[in-house]
Amino acid sequence: MNTTPQPPTTWTIAALLKWTSEFFQSKGIESAKREAELLLAHVLKCKRIELIARFQEQPTEAERAHYRELIQRRVAGWPVAYLIGSREFYLLSFDVDPRVLIPRPDTETLVLEALNRLKPLTAPEVLDLGTGSGCIAISIAHQKKDARVTATDLSPDALEVAQHNAAKHQVAERITFLQGDLLAPLAPESRFDLIVSNPPYVAGSEWASLAPEIRDHEPRLALDGGPDGLAFYRRIAQDVARFLKPGGSVLLEIGSTQETAVRALLAAIPELEVGPTLKDMGGHPRVVTAQKKPTAANAS
Ligand code: GLN
Repeated sequence: MNTTPQPPTTWTIAALLKWTSEFFQSKGIESAKREAELLLAHVLKCKRIELIARFQEQPTEAERAHYRELIQRRVAGWPVAYLIGSREFYLLSFDVDPRVLIPRPDTETLVLEALNRLKPLTAPEVLDLGTGSGCIAISIAHQKKDARVTATDLSPDALEVAQHNAAKHQVAERITFLQGDLLAPLAPESRFDLIVSNPPYVAGSEWASLAPEIRDHEPRLALDGGPDGLAFYRRIAQDVARFLKPGGSVLLEIGSTQETAVRALLAAIPELEVGPTLKDMGGHPRVVTAQKKPTAANAS
């Protein structure tokens, strides 16, 4: 049985954090301490790191009431990023709400590889399919100052969030946002040095076992990869080569069990050469790579 931790007599910041971490732990929340801190920093409008210097302060009754409300919503299943309205990803903080998938650390593997491949290029053209919050497109534009990025999304709601984030990080003038399905909104003559995507990849069979926090709160449009989870990779593989410059790369984030299937889909396209699969920080296969053969005809 879970037991609710005993309340202390004085609610200092230190006491609030201790109580809340233990409460979250008792509810099976993995990053209990971190989430208790993020929520309290949000209530007190300060940085998480600043809480330490303020340990002995006593928040007002109104602040405590606000914190209590957030704690209740967190325990009821709301992801902390939606409660505080932001999520750190790679080097930046992205504003998020239930219109977009919350950026995951796994996706930083894709951003790092994208930046490696872009480093030697001058004024490269980059395409991000299904941009969501914009975390990939914006991180790339922010780090590679001469890159021009195009970002598509089916959801006009998601594009609003992404555009807001692009403006926040001062890269809006180098990112073109297009509403539409994968490659459909692109001009047929567009050619890119690099195409990246973190498409929806959860299989229908996995849906029921997905964490309720994800399943019940994050946009299904951003997660549902069709019956076998591979629907978007099939379509991307089919169409991507014609939008790449010769020698250009495609980097696709995958679910950790999808490496073989996604490599096979790309290998079936004659213009593409499949490259190494990259692992995430947990050691799982996470990014499948391919290059357009330098000799492949650049048909339109
Ligand atoms: N990584 C996500 C998850 O938590 C899935 C993201 C996606 O479908 N692209 O399951």
